[in-house]
Amino acid sequence: MKTLLIRNARIRDDQDLQDIWMEEGVIRKIGSGLSAGADREIDCKGRVVLPGLVEGHIHPDKAFLEERKPNVSGTLEEAIKNTGELKAEYTYEDVYARSEKVLKWAIAKGTTVMRAHPDVDHIEKLMGVEVLLELKEVYKDKIDLQIVVFPQEGILKSEGTLERMEEGILMGADVVGGCPYNEKTLEDSIRHLELVFDLAKKHELPLDLHVDFADHTEDPRYLLTDRICDLTIERGMQGRVTLGHVTTLGSLDLEEASLLFAKIAHAGITIMPLPATDVYLNGRNDEKNVRRGMAPVRQMLEHGVNVAFASNNIRNAFTPFGNANLLLIGYLLAETQFMGSAEQQRAVLDMITYNAAKCLGIEETYGIAEGKKADLVVFDSLKLSDVIQDQPIANYVIKAGRVIVEQSMNRTVE
Ligand SMILES: [Zn+2]
Repeated sequence: MKTLLIRNARIRDDQDLQDIWMEEGVIRKIGSGLSAGADREIDCKGRVVLPGLVEGHIHPDKAFLEERKPNVSGTLEEAIKNTGELKAEYTYEDVYARSEKVLKWAIAKGTTVMRAHPDVDHIEKLMGVEVLLELKEVYKDKIDLQIVVFPQEGILKSEGTLERMEEGILMGADVVGGCPYNEKTLEDSIRHLELVFDLAKKHELPLDLHVDFADHTEDPRYLLTDRICDLTIERGMQGRVTLGHVTTLGSLDLEEASLLFAKIAHAGITIMPLPATDVYLNGRNDEKNVRRGMAPVRQMLEHGVNVAFASNNIRNAFTPFGNANLLLIGYLLAETQFMGSAEQQRAVLDMITYNAAKCLGIEETYGIAEGKKADLVVFDSLKLSDVIQDQPIANYVIKAGRVIVEQSMNRTVE
């Protein structure tokens, strides 16, 4: 019976330090000065302990492609085009190596759960899904992986994609993806939505869509959130739908947006900004007062919307940056969304822990409480409200009650 005890953990900023005793991968006891013995004991010395971070939206299969074909114009169109050309040259080993690197980087940064969106289309076919299914098994003791069948090239535009998505589900994928803006007409975008809702319903799976990724409201293919709220309620999918990007919402006027935010909350939809990509691709053509190009996070939180955020891309044509480090993305979000108070900085941490866990449907076993899974990360910070600005390393990453990453930094300043 394997046991682990961590002492003097900062779990909340308004509470004394706590000890956490874990046995067989589960948190059994939390309290001050626990007397229980353990196979291993770690003294956190007041450092912050969070539940393992949740990377709710990432594309390991197309990570590290930036150097092969940089995005010169910096537009979404060129990103899709360049990546489409590179996909034609993929080999299984190449996709495996790049995806594995993303997983390793993420784990070292404190991520214990990940939802990956491999492309499924007429070019990559099911290679990304196959690679991630293998990695899911190989890395099962280190990270929980959910796999989305993601039609990056559209469904009506890319022959055989719907059938391949269903095949991916039968192989073991966990979530139905979508990308309705990448169709030729509004009618096709709407048909795309209906097809993915039908597929999710048929296989009783959640839906996770890339939608409304624009910095203006002129193209109706990028203004589908309202319709998706209606579909979610009509199909009884409340609490099981996630929308990534949704940057168009930042271009709506406040009154119009306010009604929509209330509707999103009512439909139980999670909004997943992808700041590194959103900020990099949007606002490109502004010559002054450049738009930030992100969904309005604070306003949605105020309306009770479940908001998480994620890395999305690591060093490719969509985003030439990325370390699979959610704290870095959190800093970008906090800065650009004016979330600077201690309370707001803690809310940013909630978005990559509890809110993202809710999005992934794992909230029942997730968190720091007796009976929850022993997936924890010890950060080299002394207050939760400092984590985003400290950008600390993860001293310990604990998965199922076992230390899987251990790292420290020695610093001398004369
Ligand atoms: Zn994405």
